[in-house]
Amino acid sequence: MLVTSRELLIDAQKNKYAVGAFNVENMDMVLAVLNAAEETHSPVIMQTTPGTVKYAGTDMYFANINAAAKRASVPVVCHLDHGNSFGMAVKAFHTGYTSIMIDGSKLPFEENIALTKSVVDVCHSGCINIPVEAELGRVGGKEDELVNSGNNPYTDPKEAAEFVERTGCDSLAVAVGTAHGVYKGVPQISFDVLAKIHEVVNIPLVLHGTSGVPDEQVIKCVSMGMCKVNYATDLRIAYTYGVKKYMQENPGVFDPKKYGSYGIEEVKRYVTGRMKVIGSCGHI
Ligand SMILES: [Zn+2]
Repeated sequence: MLVTSRELLIDAQKNKYAVGAFNVENMDMVLAVLNAAEETHSPVIMQTTPGTVKYAGTDMYFANINAAAKRASVPVVCHLDHGNSFGMAVKAFHTGYTSIMIDGSKLPFEENIALTKSVVDVCHSGCINIPVEAELGRVGGKEDELVNSGNNPYTDPKEAAEFVERTGCDSLAVAVGTAHGVYKGVPQISFDVLAKIHEVVNIPLVLHGTSGVPDEQVIKCVSMGMCKVNYATDLRIAYTYGVKKYMQENPGVFDPKKYGSYGIEEVKRYVTGRMKVIGSCGHI
């Protein structure tokens, strides 16, 4: 069943677990995430970035995720990850996405508020009230085409409280020391900053850049209010690893279903492991 992220994240917040949000790039990855969610009885969020939808269109990805949701025994959300403009967010909303992120984190505070509020106004005004995720502070590294280089300022807890109040956003991605992409060392998460944000912000918090973060740090983040945990890079790595390995062993094969199924298995294995770490298993 296709649902909005609101009900899933509120339940996660109440019961102190997190819902995994997995970036899907193609039908194989949608199938892999679906299989993992069904086998572990986990609610799940499938998401695409603007860079991904540029490849085949929001309609193509929505149709794929919606088809998976229709046959699923678990609730599935179709989420826009890192919506980079008002136009992109509204496009995904009109396509049928059931959760929208608008990322104005690279803008000055007031401009981020204005952009986020404008998207919230649209998404909350339809016949279905679609929840909006916003971002404040800078998650480092490279997400899609958005590069945050150099310093990696943490989200200011006071600003976070004001931001949520003024924008009416439904969940908030915060910068607490994680980065997008592949980590060069072990990431240093500031649990002090997270605790302060958690104290003053009562909507679900979102952890970005989680690929490569040690399990115990992720578990601690979840216990401190992170209700949605994003994974992108490691799914790409898993899929490509599965396909490559099969093709190296079977260089003569030219049937995409054959090597694709190995990509699916690797992604499914990875996603299942993540669902166990964030505690979403058995909640459906
Ligand atoms: Zn992100």
